[in-house]
Amino acid sequence: MTAAEGNKRPPRLLNPASGYLTGYSYTINPYIGCVFGCSYCYVRRMPVALFRGQPWGEWIEAKGVDQNSFRREWQKALIKGPVTVFMSSATDPYQPSEYKSRLTRMILEVMVESPPEFVLVQTRSPLVLRDADLLKQLGARVRVSMTVETDLEPVRKRLTPAAPPLASRWRAIRMLREQGIPVQAAVSPLLPCSDGFAARLAEEAPRVVIDDFFRGDGSAGKRSAQLGMRERYRELGLEKLYEPRTADRFAAELCSLMPHGAVYFGQDGFLP
Ligand code: SF4
Repeated sequence: MTAAEGNKRPPRLLNPASGYLTGYSYTINPYIGCVFGCSYCYVRRMPVALFRGQPWGEWIEAKGVDQNSFRREWQKALIKGPVTVFMSSATDPYQPSEYKSRLTRMILEVMVESPPEFVLVQTRSPLVLRDADLLKQLGARVRVSMTVETDLEPVRKRLTPAAPPLASRWRAIRMLREQGIPVQAAVSPLLPCSDGFAARLAEEAPRVVIDDFFRGDGSAGKRSAQLGMRERYRELGLEKLYEPRTADRFAAELCSLMPHGAVYFGQDGFLP
């Protein structure tokens, strides 16, 4: 081992939250990269993706952190004050490789030992169900936010072909709910959907947050424009839906179907 290798510290998992996630003390991204590779993913426009030399969605690295070093990092953070965590902001914590690596599970285990004030687990993968035992132990300190941007599988396949099928996400919401684990559906960003989408959300999800390409990409729609989302809608023959009023109308319909306080728009719905 060289001196440099001997001094090498494991990467940190806790990063101070900022921007859209102000309101949290930290974000945790257990992975760098994301194999779901959604066409609209704003991370595509960030240095981590731009300077990689490989297309976003085709690579993934697990952060090499063992449980003891994360436990030390976690305890230090807890000593400083109340800890609120958004997991994850630049990847999905339930990558297919999480089946084996169990990195996200390791993080939740440490959280169960010494719970945070609040942790939001943002995912579109039904693998989150594997960790229901830990999520249950976190009680009201956790919320799983399951992305369901549309109810139309053909739309999902066109715009996020590598992401888990919608049926598995509806099932995950149902099963988390049955086990008493706080859960919301994140319609983020709202994609073209059927006329029955709002009613289905009202029936299946106790809480819903809606976002769109104009207010949810962290740059007032610029990143979505750079990613060519209008052109993608045009290819689908749905360009007329590519405007802020689409999500406003959808939010109004959902509000008429769900109890007061169950529907959120944008950042508010993701905050602790
Ligand atoms: S799952 Fe999230 S981080 Fe991954 S590509 Fe899709 S939007 Fe980006």
